[in-house]
Amino acid sequence: MEPRPHLFGLLPEEIAAHLRAAGVEVRDDEARRILAHRLPPRGRRAPSRPVGRRLLAEVAARFDDAALEIVDRAEDPEDRFVKYLFRSPDGALSEAVRIPLEKADSFSVCLSSQVGCAMKCAFCATGRLGLARHLEPWEMVDAFRQVRDEAPGRVTGAVFQGQGEPFHNYDAVIRAARILSHPCGGRVRGDAITISTVGIVPRIRQYAAEGHRYRLIVSMTSAIEGKRASLLPVAAKWSLAELAEALREYAAANPRLTTVAWVLLGGVNDGPEEAEALHRLLGDLRLRINLIDVNDPRPGGYRRSTDAERKGFVNALQVLKAPVVRRYSGGFRRHAACGMLAATRWEGAGGEAEIDALADEAKHMSRPRPSSPPAGGPPGFGD
Ligand code: SF4
Repeated sequence: MEPRPHLFGLLPEEIAAHLRAAGVEVRDDEARRILAHRLPPRGRRAPSRPVGRRLLAEVAARFDDAALEIVDRAEDPEDRFVKYLFRSPDGALSEAVRIPLEKADSFSVCLSSQVGCAMKCAFCATGRLGLARHLEPWEMVDAFRQVRDEAPGRVTGAVFQGQGEPFHNYDAVIRAARILSHPCGGRVRGDAITISTVGIVPRIRQYAAEGHRYRLIVSMTSAIEGKRASLLPVAAKWSLAELAEALREYAAANPRLTTVAWVLLGGVNDGPEEAEALHRLLGDLRLRINLIDVNDPRPGGYRRSTDAERKGFVNALQVLKAPVVRRYSGGFRRHAACGMLAATRWEGAGGEAEIDALADEAKHMSRPRPSSPPAGGPPGFGD
């Protein structure tokens, strides 16, 4: 028997096409109601019968509606970041993080795109897992749904920055983003969805050419060829010149600032030579630079930059005339911060003393700003 597609992995027009291919008559508005019925807004009850009984029976027979199982959820008592551990029907474990935004009672969800990751970034716990498999679009959408439904306020954004390299699972991530931003799906504004990549050059080009409205963040972390490749091994596949060219294509297609992320590794990539190299490489672009403190509690692991090192680097970056923001990456005490996701329960995961020390440093960094949800309700509700 053919595997049934999951409803959360399809847009309404695809749901309609699948039904019509099977000889089932369905109107476009009915297909929209079918998806909206399964993904009702948080706190709203879905109507018990969004379409006729016969059509509902066809939907039940022709689409999968499995849900992820929540294995564990743990809230960081200091900053209210909540890490979720999910189990897929095949037993695969993945994580998501509920992120409190600057505005009270407003949240975003950090989503994984893969089970593990193949990129092997030197400072990342996920990279040490290796890649088990890609996540399906429905798994990303369902993780979002479940985190959203438990949030004590509005969830207005999503960021693909959890386990995995989103552009290594490009089609599935773009599909999930389209469903999350659909008015019958996740109802998140397109520009409140962020996709982060370590720098897969052909996919950045593709993304630029396709003209998506989601925000893109490209991890630079070093602008010096050999050093970048040692920190981000996948970087060895393309030269920095090729990456810069792809970013120019993206910038030409996108009126926003081009955001690059920089994981600050004390004494490794926080010197003036890095700022100069970044200036030589991307000085012609309108950049925003996100600095992220490394979260590596392993004994002998990467250390965070000292205040003096960080200030010196920020000063050196002034040559780019770009906004530089030190991003808050919370959830340390639950192993939920950037670079710490490894599909583990936080208890017994080790390094608690180091985690406490790192967490205490993070008090005054910038948190993501909230985004407004799209105006108007989904078809099929409130009527
Ligand atoms: S930083 Fe991102 S791309 Fe690199 S290993 Fe970790 S999850 Fe993968």
